[in-house]
Amino acid sequence: VSDKVLNLQKDAWFLFTSVASPDAVNLGQGFPDDPPSDHIKEIVARAISEPECNQYAPPKGRLHARQTLANTFGPLFNRTLDPETEIIVTAGASEGLTDLFAAFLDHGDHAILIEPFYDQYVANITMNGGVPIYVPLRPTGDPTQNISSREWKIDIDELRSKITKKTKLIVFNNPHNPTGKVFSREEMMEIGKIAQEFNLLVISDEYDRYCYAPDVFERFATLPEMWERTITVGDSGKTFGTTGWCVGWLIGPKYLIAAALNAHTRIVFCVNSPLQEAIAILLDEINHKEYFDQKISEYSSKREKLMFALSSIGIPYTIPQGSYFILANTSKIQIPLDYEFPEDFINKPRDFKFCYWLAKEIGIIAIPPSEFYSQKHKYLVENFVRFAFCKSDETLELAAKALIMLK
Ligand code: GLN
Repeated sequence: VSDKVLNLQKDAWFLFTSVASPDAVNLGQGFPDDPPSDHIKEIVARAISEPECNQYAPPKGRLHARQTLANTFGPLFNRTLDPETEIIVTAGASEGLTDLFAAFLDHGDHAILIEPFYDQYVANITMNGGVPIYVPLRPTGDPTQNISSREWKIDIDELRSKITKKTKLIVFNNPHNPTGKVFSREEMMEIGKIAQEFNLLVISDEYDRYCYAPDVFERFATLPEMWERTITVGDSGKTFGTTGWCVGWLIGPKYLIAAALNAHTRIVFCVNSPLQEAIAILLDEINHKEYFDQKISEYSSKREKLMFALSSIGIPYTIPQGSYFILANTSKIQIPLDYEFPEDFINKPRDFKFCYWLAKEIGIIAIPPSEFYSQKHKYLVENFVRFAFCKSDETLELAAKALIMLK
């Protein structure tokens, strides 16, 4: 077995889903657990009944999908997008990211990751010969009180100090998983300035756009002079509650997209046709603004429900400006000292142990955020757990009931 995969860890999503009993309340993996509507099912049936939709799509994606993405995202990027040269349909955000690391990293090149980072990045970088270099967001403010995700901060001088001749790119994620932070324009401009000064590519992972008033989500590529050096990664799974479809996209300037397409073609050749068609139909038929306003108000109420449940048992948390994750501070909760952990949990950080105990004894699945930090910085989040609130109201009520056991 190649060293590239030999030492990869089990992913936390699968790990915690598998340790819990099947009736545990799942606030772990970030997928909406409402079933797809009949309308969505009907659209898939319609797409799959098209004979041509059952054959290979062009590597860059079906024209209908690219056109729809251009129409949808053009206004959000304040420009006209060319569906022939500036968009690729990918097998979800993860494959899009893999394409980019394959296309832009040579052996030994450095890729800057802002911690906490989505765990997939590391393996995608190392499998492509790159070296991840870590710069942490640190929680500031009083950890015994609720804090805003604004208070998770990056030290820009620390970021600058990590840039060397080998640095090729920065991976940026906004709204941020797992903190729920929505980066301010000023923070993004500072990162952008560094990208410009050192001629770095920015991979902006913007897989969803849930952002709660008064915060405003801005796309990195729309900052002055950033379009030319930014590729935006997106995915449809969270938009339509269909994370298992894995239909995503890359959007960026022609010369960067051409390189990404070379990699994408040799990695998957093309993405499954019927589901990209179904996403195109769905994106065509919604009024974007209305659809997202409605989603944001739905998620805003779910966010309130989970924050209320945590407040009622006296657990402080980070109030997320965006996304559908809450980091709760569990330092007040004592894991029984004599609790027996399986062998592979014994040397793990506290949040891992906490999540194991929570899944087994309280019946709630959560994700340990230290999974999103390099070894050196895991200690920063040992007292936190990540809960996902993109769940049905029924699931959130069950979670609230189970959480009472922590009081
Ligand atoms: N992006 C989702 C999350 O953060 C799903 C991750 C996964 O299953 N690999 O929960």
